[in-house]
Amino acid sequence: MKQSLIESNGQTSGLFIDGQWREAAHKEVFQVENPSNGEVIAEVCDATSNDARAAFEAACKAQDAWAATAPRYRSEILRNAFEILKRDSEQFASLITLEMGKPIAESRGEVAYANEFLRWFSEEAVRIGGRTGSVPEGHLGLITRRKPVGPSLLITPWNFPLAMITRKVGPAIAAGCTMVIKPAALTPLTALKLGEVFVEAGLPAGVLNIVPSSRASEISGPILADSRLRKISFTGSTNVGKILMKAAADNVVRSSMELGGNAPFLVFEDANLDQAIEGAVAAKLRNNGEACTAANRFIVHSSVYEEFSRRLAERFDQLTVGDGLLESTDCGPLIDSRSLANIESLIQDALQRGAKRITREEQFDGPGHFMRPTLLTNVAPESRIINEEIFGPVAPIVSFENDAEAWQIANQTEYGLASYVYTESLDRLLTASDQIEAGIMGWNSGVVSNAAAPFGGVKQSGTGREGGIEGIEDYTTLQYIGTRLPTS
Ligand code: NAD
Repeated sequence: MKQSLIESNGQTSGLFIDGQWREAAHKEVFQVENPSNGEVIAEVCDATSNDARAAFEAACKAQDAWAATAPRYRSEILRNAFEILKRDSEQFASLITLEMGKPIAESRGEVAYANEFLRWFSEEAVRIGGRTGSVPEGHLGLITRRKPVGPSLLITPWNFPLAMITRKVGPAIAAGCTMVIKPAALTPLTALKLGEVFVEAGLPAGVLNIVPSSRASEISGPILADSRLRKISFTGSTNVGKILMKAAADNVVRSSMELGGNAPFLVFEDANLDQAIEGAVAAKLRNNGEACTAANRFIVHSSVYEEFSRRLAERFDQLTVGDGLLESTDCGPLIDSRSLANIESLIQDALQRGAKRITREEQFDGPGHFMRPTLLTNVAPESRIINEEIFGPVAPIVSFENDAEAWQIANQTEYGLASYVYTESLDRLLTASDQIEAGIMGWNSGVVSNAAAPFGGVKQSGTGREGGIEGIEDYTTLQYIGTRLPTS
């Protein structure tokens, strides 16, 4: 029997608590649907607040022994997990497409990307350094040590069901933290399958616990209220991030927030347009636009506006929309009917304010939540589509006359996650880096996420960084030891 299926019926995926697959306390389940056709693909035990408490208890119980393990031991568990995930990558890719909808080729890409966090942090686990020195007056030596921050709550979204988890789990394991993971209710199956990987990799019971639930706040509430919680790491919408930050303030819990975005994609008059078109397709349509890094607004110099718009529309019109399991599909469905309705309302709002649709239309019959990649020109600045995170395969294209105007439009948002700059001029790129308020900038590249790079935002896109050598810092606390020197 598959590990994550609970023993009682052999069909329902269980909660993973203290090394065991279990039913929920009240024995209820929720269903997971395939967004391509609305079919129920699985049922999953629906964790309650009592299950959240049990999972957190397990994490607290395991913390001291886990923190005391050798970095090499933790590193090798992560490396084992990397090898197992690589071996099972095709199964993971199919599962991601089934529950989230993205084309199978992109799911394979996500598995590889997600797995790099396990490999990267297996390498970082043995390099958690401190520093030594002395104070300027010379009477004290200075030693800093990094220690695991402690039991952590990790809450993740549905859009990258694997990578958003490994980006947190990798550094947490490397640093010696135990954790409770609350995956998105729309995509819990990938998370549970990752639990199986860690069992096989030899992770001790209680270090990693997974509690899918249809009632998110019943999970986060009791854990955030427990004074033993040391860290919350959340990836999701800015609105929910604010709720969690407020709740975390009560016990002054360390918060890392990877929130929403409204990325500007700037094309200057000196840009290589072939590269800009390629980058625009990737930055807008990777993950069907359901990415926090997705280009939300194309901001294009007036001298190349017509050509850029026409060529990008031609590319969009060639793409095939359909079931992600078909190798011929370029763009899968949106995650659910709510998302589809919201994006359609953004398009209608822009059209009513005078925008022009320059891509072809296509009608889809339900129950899949399909939408054609869409470009809009002549978009009024006050349109919702300019100011809200779209999270779908639609984008407005606006024009600018000079660099100052480009920076001003780019920054006209409360978000500051990704940005993209297409120019052949290094001077202009460096000015863009000075001027644009964003945690991430792609220069002549539409995809920049990498396990080795620090990922995170400014303004209302969040706090903290994931990935890179910086990613582990959020899971450690720094202790300073001042030592009397013999000469003093
Ligand atoms: P969401 O905020 O609705 O949900 C994210 C997670 O929070 C889910 O697990 C959900 O169940 C949980 N949640 C919802 N309400 C909660 C509450 N009151 N208390 C505790 N947990 C709660 O976001 P989503 O729709 O799953 O994901 C899309 C959003 O995520 C977009 O805004 C996107 O930009 C953002 N995102 C950001 C990054 C990043 O790295 N910055 C990456 C991916 C997605």
